[in-house]
Amino acid sequence: MIILGFESSCDETGVAAVCTERGLLAHALHSQVAMHQEYGGVVPELASRDHIRRALPLTREVLDKAGLSLGDVDAVAYTAGPGLAGALLVGASVAQSLAWALEVPAVPVHHLEGHLLSPLLADPVPEFPFVALLVSGGHTQLMRVDGVGSYELLGETLDDAAGEAFDKTAKLLGLGYPGGPALSRLAQQGDASQYQLPRPMLRSQDLDFSFSGLKTAVLTKVRAQKTPLSDQQMADLAAATEEAIVDVLAGKALKAMKQTGLRRLVVAGGVGANRLLRERLVGTMEKRGGKVFFPPLELCTDNGAMIAHAAALRIKAGLERLEPTNHAFTVRPRWPLEDVCAKVGQA
Ligand code: ATP
Ligand code: MG
Ligand code: FE
Repeated sequence: MIILGFESSCDETGVAAVCTERGLLAHALHSQVAMHQEYGGVVPELASRDHIRRALPLTREVLDKAGLSLGDVDAVAYTAGPGLAGALLVGASVAQSLAWALEVPAVPVHHLEGHLLSPLLADPVPEFPFVALLVSGGHTQLMRVDGVGSYELLGETLDDAAGEAFDKTAKLLGLGYPGGPALSRLAQQGDASQYQLPRPMLRSQDLDFSFSGLKTAVLTKVRAQKTPLSDQQMADLAAATEEAIVDVLAGKALKAMKQTGLRRLVVAGGVGANRLLRERLVGTMEKRGGKVFFPPLELCTDNGAMIAHAAALRIKAGLERLEPTNHAFTVRPRWPLEDVCAKVGQA
């Protein structure tokens, strides 16, 4: 079965073709980062309009790359939430219209389920059950995953997400938006020991996080200096920030492994592309006889492949009804992940 998938929840337009038997066939992506950069963040209306421009050219590109024609498509999946309402509506409208024209089912997908299952696109594929550390621009969660559609929240951030902590600190240091990757690059030239930053909630008994205090701590360090930061000091502060975030994420992930007794850890979401986090988790897990899995680097941030793939896994697990679309659809800008769990979804 061939599934065409659309992602448009924020500032990336992603399209992909996945086969339920053969896996990912092709994917194409357009990032709007350059367009939003001058505003220092995502402008929702501009995002929606750009998704409209990109959706069909990307679809043609994917079909070409995969050697498919529209007639080969058996279902059309799309991100139905959570995300920006206007942006979601573009992907949903395109997908629903295509499904209607092709007389195939349309499959709404939860964006976080897409991220969560994206490590299953890598080789080797992690087996269930596993602990998932979901670290994206808007979410920081630890989850126990027993199978497709079986997710239990173990802990989450009480304020900023890890990605936000990277982005906000990067902005403060004048590194643009989204600054996570830039901050991480700069950190490579820095010495983290030059600045002492807090590790919020690292020692708390639960599996929750808090990152909002970190940017304030960085701001305090910047303000405490009489002179503007030198290039080296900027790099040192970037390194100290990255170190603090990674310490907390790795510490809590390890705590989750101990609490659940599971040996497999899966990392998903944009911050999963972070080099230091990857190194730290690989090292920690090796020492404890566990194993850590990541999505392919290019599939850490938003993309269509994870959406088509999540739909494929849900279809294979028998969690989707696959009826022809009836033209009525909606998007869910706010949508708890529990709603797509097998128990709840089938009740
Ligand atoms: P959500 O999925 O929660 O709605 P999102 O889709 O915006 O949020 P992603 O696309 O998964 O999030 O990830 C984007 C985030 O990942 C940004 O905050 C970005 O700064 C961060 N990020 C990407 N690469 C790196 C990196 N190498 N180091 C640190 N952070 C990174
Ligand atoms: Mg993005
Ligand atoms: Fe995302």
